[in-house]
Amino acid sequence: MRVLVLGSGLLGVTSAWYLSQLGHEVTVIDRQASPAAETSHANGGQISVCHAEPWANPSAPFKVLKWLAREDAPLLFRLQADPRQWAWGLQFLRECTPARARHNIGQLVRLGTYSRTMLQQLRRDTGIQYDQRMQGILHFYTSQKEFDGALNPARQMRELGCERHVISPDEAVTIEPALASIRPHLVGATYTAEDESGDARQFTLALARLCEARGVRFLMSHHITRLVPAGDSITHVEATDPSGRYVQLSADSYVLAAGSFSPALAAPLGLRLPLYPAKGYSLTAPVIDPSLAYEVSLTDDEYKLVFSRYTTQDSHGATEDRLRIAGTAELGGYERQLNETRCQGLLRRTQELFPGAADLSRGQFWSGLRPSTPSNVPLIGRSRVSNLFLNTGHGTLGWTHSCGSGKALADIMSGHLPEVDFAFQGMTRASRQSPAVNTVKTPV
Ligand SMILES: Cc1cc2nc3c(=O)[nH]c(=O)nc-3n(C[C@H](O)[C@H](O)[C@H](O)COP(=O)(O)OP(=O)(O)OC[C@H]3O[C@@H](n4cnc5c(N)ncnc54)[C@H](O)[C@@H]3O)c2cc1C
Repeated sequence: MRVLVLGSGLLGVTSAWYLSQLGHEVTVIDRQASPAAETSHANGGQISVCHAEPWANPSAPFKVLKWLAREDAPLLFRLQADPRQWAWGLQFLRECTPARARHNIGQLVRLGTYSRTMLQQLRRDTGIQYDQRMQGILHFYTSQKEFDGALNPARQMRELGCERHVISPDEAVTIEPALASIRPHLVGATYTAEDESGDARQFTLALARLCEARGVRFLMSHHITRLVPAGDSITHVEATDPSGRYVQLSADSYVLAAGSFSPALAAPLGLRLPLYPAKGYSLTAPVIDPSLAYEVSLTDDEYKLVFSRYTTQDSHGATEDRLRIAGTAELGGYERQLNETRCQGLLRRTQELFPGAADLSRGQFWSGLRPSTPSNVPLIGRSRVSNLFLNTGHGTLGWTHSCGSGKALADIMSGHLPEVDFAFQGMTRASRQSPAVNTVKTPV
């Protein structure tokens, strides 16, 4: 089958890889000059099955209200005159009940565990390198209230097979000695040994090269302007090429993996994707004192920040050692401008936690738009347009879920049953268990 993948971020490139593995003829199209140039560019780096508690949870409505007027709030709604934002906000509130949060944790843990296994297998099969670290993920807490609030979701995750264990502050410092400087402030921690971290951009670029070696074609600097329907399917895609010339591209099937811009491409087809961009920030700074820098990937739940370390050695033995600090979310539309207050917040917290570890004066700030659903659960599978498939809406966990989503979508498109129990679009629970009854559920 000829497949055109729309978007070359983490989700587009992993889709292309697994589709080509199953023998399809794949082309990837993107407006950027190289893959991973938008949201997959400088994220937090965590492969975090343990980060499965969605933003929409029982404590969220109170926190969101409290944070409404705070410019440096970890989760900030900037209210706009945009009905899509309000509709998203209402759906978000509906996902905050204990029952919905529990359901969504289940979805995220199952997809996350499967995806981490797929990433490990890909690493074994290809030897792909992306400054990966397999030292687990440690959540630390300096607020008793925040720690108490994390215990129930962590228990739910353990019941679902994610080994996120509660540990004492002393055990946290033993696992990550760089936390010693804040030991007096630590009230508790959790540790998930099987989780990982790594540079998502390096991964995407390396996987794109492996795809090319298998014959996948990349049409970069091509701006998609329209998906053209006829009846219940797409006949072709309209785009402009690098010189601005109009081009038409056709395939048997299409994968929509355009991140936060997926809804705009889908809307003219009558598809309303419940996605809204959640802007996040990252700071990348060179390590100046390795003994003060963390090795284990960390999560600071209270500030909604994650910490990863990337250490690259080139062929001459020279080492590049960087800290990546990322997180916070701002729901205020599609602009990506860096807000000084939010950048300063990131710097301040890093300085408080790891003084002297990195040269923050040489730090580079970046922002990206997470394609977020109100539940944090991504949209993977069929759409109501017969030859359009979705792999989008991965929000905070697009790196964690990329390999599993790409593999499951490739399976669905090839008529195979996905290997993970997840609420795929266009498939009922029964059809997930038996390929013979592959009925359509009300796909978006
Ligand atoms: C600050 C921050 C920290 C994060 N940390 C983590 C983390 O630690 N762990 C984790 O699992 N996830 C993390 N994420 C989430 C993760 O980065 C995203 O979920 C993921 O990158 C989304 O990938 P994507 O392929 O859907 O979107 P993108 O990477 O944005 O790719 C979409 C592609 O579509 C292309 N495109 C869009 N419209 C068009 C058009 N009209 N024509 C042509 N091309 C088009 C774009 O150019 C882009 O290349 C983080 C995100 C942010 C912002």
